Amino acid sequence: MGKWENNVRRVVPYVPGEQPNQPDMIKLNTNENPYPPAPGVKKLLEEMDVDVMRLYPDTTAKLLVDALAAYYHVDTKQVFVGVGSDDVIAMSFLTFFNSETPILFPDITYSFYDVWADVFRIPYRQIPLTDSFHVKPEEYYSENTPNGGIIIPNPNAPTGVELPLEKLEEIIRHNPDVVVIVDEAYIDFGAASALPLLKKYDNLLVVQTFSKSRSMAGMRIGFAIGNEKLISYLNDVKYSFNSYTMDCTAILVGAEAVKDDAYFKKTTAKIIETREWAKERLHALGFVFEDSQSNFIFAAHKTVPAKEIFDALRQQHIYVRYFAKPRIDNYLRITIGTKEEMETLFTFLEKFLKD
Ligand SMILES: *Cc1c(COP(=O)(O)O)cnc(C)c1O
Repeated sequence: MGKWENNVRRVVPYVPGEQPNQPDMIKLNTNENPYPPAPGVKKLLEEMDVDVMRLYPDTTAKLLVDALAAYYHVDTKQVFVGVGSDDVIAMSFLTFFNSETPILFPDITYSFYDVWADVFRIPYRQIPLTDSFHVKPEEYYSENTPNGGIIIPNPNAPTGVELPLEKLEEIIRHNPDVVVIVDEAYIDFGAASALPLLKKYDNLLVVQTFSKSRSMAGMRIGFAIGNEKLISYLNDVKYSFNSYTMDCTAILVGAEAVKDDAYFKKTTAKIIETREWAKERLHALGFVFEDSQSNFIFAAHKTVPAKEIFDALRQQHIYVRYFAKPRIDNYLRITIGTKEEMETLFTFLEKFLKD
């Protein structure tokens, strides 16, 4: 064999949660929303003129950018959109994390961060969470840990734990010379967003997604809001990589979904309500967990190993997420589904844990 393999960019890829497809399954493993997208989305798709597909989409995705800028009361120049927040965050790593000094993120967090760092050759350092899965803000201060940038999800995944905004602000305040990215994939389920801090910090980038709270994981829509200058740098990199990231359908239905605020508020409120009820049920079943402000609960059972519960649920076609990783291999991440789905889960657990 030739030596061509020496020149291959090799990476250990990110492992997405499995996407099983059984008619009777209860899918609580990848934090999707159990409710359909806003009704206007269906209507729009049914009426869509396929002739628009002949043409390249609008590279600026103006319709969607305008809708987001209006909704979040920011300038259109402060909004960047991409193919899910995975795309937005990957572009942000490429754009903002170019220092020789390691970037920082928690040791237990979204498992894509170290993969992007590896693939882009960005040095990184993982800062351990406390034993109760909380971020220790001081360890991110530049005077304590010199760094080339920071990314923190708030609430964190897969723990669901919220970092209070005052503490997050301290991290930003202590890092004026690098970009701080806050990944707010789960922000609409009750935690406080960092968006109001944009007025004070020009090095803050807030990233959100349509995949969880807006029920559109399959459409792949994510966005970032930040200082005009940050966004313009982000667009420069995007146009140097793939100028047509958002397809014509995603731009249309994304803008439509943002307009229906009543539906958005109604469905997120339902999920929050189901989550609070699920917390009580899980406690009663002998599970322990930190308080979650997301659409999932990261729980361990007092006596039964997580892997055993995971396997038993899987046999029933009830899918939750299990990570065979240090510190978290006795936890299950359970997405909040409909109340009926959760009832089925609890009914089974009640029986299983008693035997
Ligand atoms: C789900 C998730 C994302 C990615 O979502 P997209 O579907 O790519 O928008 C990003 N960060 C965290 C922490 C997530 O949980």
